[in-house]
Amino acid sequence: MRVDPCCKRCGIDVESTDHLLQGCAFAKVVQFGSNLLFIAPSTEELRLACLLQNWDQMNFPNKKRRSEALTLLSFIIWQLWLARNELVFKNICWTPEETIHRAYKAFEEFSAAFIETLGRNSTTPHLNHPWKPPPQGVFKLNCDASLPASSTISGLGAILRDFSASPMCALSTSEQFRDIFLGEVLAVRAGLLAAIEVGVLHLMIEVDNSSLASLLMDNTIPTPSSADNVIKDIRHLMNSLSVISITWIPR
Ligand SMILES: [Zn+2]
Repeated sequence: MRVDPCCKRCGIDVESTDHLLQGCAFAKVVQFGSNLLFIAPSTEELRLACLLQNWDQMNFPNKKRRSEALTLLSFIIWQLWLARNELVFKNICWTPEETIHRAYKAFEEFSAAFIETLGRNSTTPHLNHPWKPPPQGVFKLNCDASLPASSTISGLGAILRDFSASPMCALSTSEQFRDIFLGEVLAVRAGLLAAIEVGVLHLMIEVDNSSLASLLMDNTIPTPSSADNVIKDIRHLMNSLSVISITWIPR
């Protein structure tokens, strides 16, 4: 009996563990759309084992968030595997949103049980900060960049979602940049280009850097020289659609 080695989801690549959990476009949309706020650059070197080995070098504000994100990632990986089995064995196709929702539910259940075990002094996890969908007819662009200490796996990502939180497009690419601010600026430019390409007219932009949000809203603020040209591109791109708001979310 011949078995098709291709990934049933995308039909493009051979179905390896790394492809299923990291490389497949479906996995990328789930990971980036999960508000995990870390980027998985689409390079060959970024295997799951490599990502986990480099976890300590990813950008997180503190140890607690780092460990919460790792827990959430493990549930996302688990749900990606379940989503694959549903598709392969039952021909049931989970959407990225459904997969994200299941991962969050499992994460919350796990965290609640964990906190109960630790006692009342523990605080609830911060990761499930509410991502608010845009109003109908408007799209929301979330952008982010990662620059680990070992800059071999720096990358940027962007996701465009509609009022129902469904991803319209998502990108995640590896890119070399010197500082995280420049990375975030590059992520906004890439996201804007993608939004224009799919014909978005009304857009909300959300970044996780407050000074970048301020800079994009107010062109009298001086631009860091490293990001000057990219900011100019962004301002130009912003003129070709109606940007309703530029906000930032803390992470
Ligand atoms: Zn695939």
